[in-house]
Amino acid sequence: MRQFVLKVHELCNLACDHCYVYEHADQTWRDRPATMSVPVVQRVAARIAEHAVRHRLPQVGVVLHGGEPLLLGPARLREILTVLRSTVGAATALDLRMQTNGIRLDETTAELLLEFGVRAGVSLDGDRAANDRHRRYRNGASSHERTLRGLALLRSPRYRPAYAGILCTIDVRNDPIAVYEALLEQEPPRIDLLLPHATWDDPPPHAAAGTTPYADWLVRLHRRWLADGRPVPIRLFDALHATAAGRDSGVESVGIDRGELAVVETDGSWEQPDSMKTTFHGAAATGLTVFSASADDLLATPAMRRRQAGLDGLGATCRACPVVTRCGGGLFAHRFRSGAGFANPSVYCADLKGLISAMHSDPPSTVSAAAGRSALPGPVLDELASGGGDGACIAHLTAAQESINRALLVAASESLTGAAAAAWSLLAELDKDRPDAVRRVLTQPFTRAWAVRLLSGRDDPARLADLAAAAAVIAGAGTEVAVTPRDGRVHLPTLGTLTLPDAGVPEVLVSGTGTVRWPDGGTRLAPDSPGWAPTASIALDDLTVRLEDADPYRDCHDWPPAGPLTPGDRRAWAASLRAAWPSVLSDAPEQAAGLAGGLTTITPLVPDGVTLRSATSRQAYGALGIALTPDPAAMAVMLVHEFQHTKLGAVLDLIDLVDPDATVLTKVGWRPDPRPAEGVLQGIYAHLAVADMWRHRAARGEPGAGGHYATYREWTAAAIGELSTSGALTAPGRRFMDRLAATIEAWPG
Ligand code: SF4
Repeated sequence: MRQFVLKVHELCNLACDHCYVYEHADQTWRDRPATMSVPVVQRVAARIAEHAVRHRLPQVGVVLHGGEPLLLGPARLREILTVLRSTVGAATALDLRMQTNGIRLDETTAELLLEFGVRAGVSLDGDRAANDRHRRYRNGASSHERTLRGLALLRSPRYRPAYAGILCTIDVRNDPIAVYEALLEQEPPRIDLLLPHATWDDPPPHAAAGTTPYADWLVRLHRRWLADGRPVPIRLFDALHATAAGRDSGVESVGIDRGELAVVETDGSWEQPDSMKTTFHGAAATGLTVFSASADDLLATPAMRRRQAGLDGLGATCRACPVVTRCGGGLFAHRFRSGAGFANPSVYCADLKGLISAMHSDPPSTVSAAAGRSALPGPVLDELASGGGDGACIAHLTAAQESINRALLVAASESLTGAAAAAWSLLAELDKDRPDAVRRVLTQPFTRAWAVRLLSGRDDPARLADLAAAAAVIAGAGTEVAVTPRDGRVHLPTLGTLTLPDAGVPEVLVSGTGTVRWPDGGTRLAPDSPGWAPTASIALDDLTVRLEDADPYRDCHDWPPAGPLTPGDRRAWAASLRAAWPSVLSDAPEQAAGLAGGLTTITPLVPDGVTLRSATSRQAYGALGIALTPDPAAMAVMLVHEFQHTKLGAVLDLIDLVDPDATVLTKVGWRPDPRPAEGVLQGIYAHLAVADMWRHRAARGEPGAGGHYATYREWTAAAIGELSTSGALTAPGRRFMDRLAATIEAWPG
C-alpha cells in the first residue's frame, strides 16, 4: 500500500451535482465527524509510518481530501501537516498532496503548502461554460472565477512548486478541444481526465446504447494532444501508453496494476477507494479503523484482496478480452451491477475499447527533431531539474526516446533493399498487430547506437533483420526471417544469442515460433538447446533489468564491455545488484522510481581491478555500463550516478540547456582538467544525486558518510555557481540550474 487518501474534512463549500461523495449511492458521510481530529491524524500517521517501515517503502503518498480540505482553515491544516511530516516523514519519503476546489486558496494557505511541501491538485472541468454545468455553489452561483483565482496563485513563480495539476471530470456535452485549451491555459504540471462515475445500475450520462461518446470525446482530445507534442502529461493517456509498452499504468482507472490505495475517513475508518461510493450505500466500508487495524490488516480483508487480484480478479469477459492488459476492466467501481457484483466488464467497456483501439492507430507522438525539441513540458523539465524525476517524468523521456528511435529507423528505411527491406516490412506489419513486440526491440538501448552508426555510413543494415526476428519470436508470429550471423553468432535483441556449430554458415532462418534453420541443421530457442544463451534478467523489486553481455552494439561506452558471462558471473551480478537495490531505495528515494521506470539494461564492463568503473552512452538510453563490484553501497552509487547521466542525456535530446556555441571551459572539483559546459552540467546532475545519497547515509550516522556528503555537496554547489555565471546556459538551462541550486540549498550545509 503506497497511497493513502485522508478525508480530513467531510463537508464542502460547493454542491457539484456530479460529486460521488454527496450525490451518489453511498451516504455514509452524513454520520461522520465533520473534520478529522488531531488524535485520529496521529493514529493514521503512525499506521502509515509503521507500514512504510515494515515493507521498506522508499516513499508513500498521502493526499488530503474531502469534502474540501481547505475548509479546515490554516491553523488546523498546520496541525495535521505537522503530524504527517513528523511521523510519516521520519519513516520514509513522504509525497504530500491535496485535492481541492481551489476556492479557499489564498497566500496564507499557499505559504502553508510551500512550507510543508504539499502539492495541490485543483478540480476544474474546462472553461466557464463547461465548469458551470456542475461546479456550482449551493445557491447555483458559478465557482469558476474563484477557482481561477486560486489557480493563478499556484501558477505564480513563488507557489508553482505547490501546483500538482488539474482534475477534470468529463462531460461529453462540452467540446473536448475547448476543454483542453481551457485547461492548458492554467499551465498545469499534469492533467487528470476523469470519466464520471457510473455503474451498470446507473449508466454514464448522455450515452445512448450502441454509442461511444466518451471514446469519441477522448480520441479527439488525444489527437490534438499528440499534434501539440504532448505539452503536458495527461494521466489517462500516459497510463494507456504505459500499458501498451507492457508497463504498469500507475493509476486505478486502467491497467491491471494491483490496487495500492486506501482511504481513511474523518472518524479513522479504513475504507476502499472513494469511487466505490458510486455503487451502493456502505460499499467502501471495510469494518476496520486505524485504532484497531494496521494497513496490513486492511490488505488482508477480502475486499482489498479482491482489488489486488489483478487479472484473476476480473470477470470472464474481461479475461478473454484482447485489450485486457491495457484496459484492465476499467475502474473497479464501474464494473458494478446489482445482483452480479463486480465480475462484469466496465460500464464504459465500449468506450474503453474504442479509445484503446483509436490510440493504437493514431500516429505515434511527434518524432521529427524539430517537434521533439519543443516536446518537453515545462513542469516535467522543472521536476527533472530538481534532480529527481518521478515515474511519470521518466515515462515522458522514455516515450520521447522511442519516438527518436522510430524516427532514426524511418530515416534509415529509405535506402533499404533486399533482406533489410523485407525485415523492415515485417516490423511494420507486426507493429499493427503486436506493437508491444516491436516496441520491445525498438526501445532496446543498442538499437539507437546501431541506427546512428548506420545513418552516418559506419555500419550496415543487417541488424534490422535481428530486430525483426526478435520481434517475430516475441510475437509468436507465423513467419520466418533471414538473418546473417556475425562471427558464427546470431544475436536476437532482448532475447539472447545463438552460437552456431559452424562459424561459416552465411544465413539462418529464424521462425516466429522459436526455431532456427540453416542448410544442414537447426535448433529451437529453448534454454537447454546447445548454443542458445538467453539474455539474463535480474528482478529487483519493482524492476527487471537485463544483463547484456552479448549484443554486438553494446560497445558504445568509454570502457570495454565484458562478456560473454559465465553462469558464475551471472550469479555474482544478481547477488551484487540485489544487495545494492535496498541501498538505492533507502539512500536515493528521489531516484528509485526513476530507475525503476527507466533502467532496462546493464552492460557489464571489464573491471580494471583498482577503481570502480561505470559509464553511460547518450546513444543507449536505459543502459548503464558498470564493472562488477561486490560492494553494494558502491554499486548503488554507480547505478544512481549513471542513471542521472541517462536522464540528462534524454533531456538534452529534447531541449538545449547549454548554448551549442559556448566554448567556455570550467574547472570542477571532481576532475583535474577544465570541462566544457555540457560536461560540467552532466557532472553537476550526477554528483547532486550522489551527494543526496551520502546525505541520507550521514543522517543515519553511517561512519564517514558526513565527509563524503560535504565533499560532493561542495563540488556540486561550486560547479552550479560557476556554470550559472558562465554565460553558457540557454534560458531553459538557467531555469534548470536555478532549480538544481534550490535543491542543494535546501540541504544542510
Ligand atoms: S472492460 Fe471491456 S475493454 Fe476493458 S478489459 Fe473488460 S471487456 Fe475488455
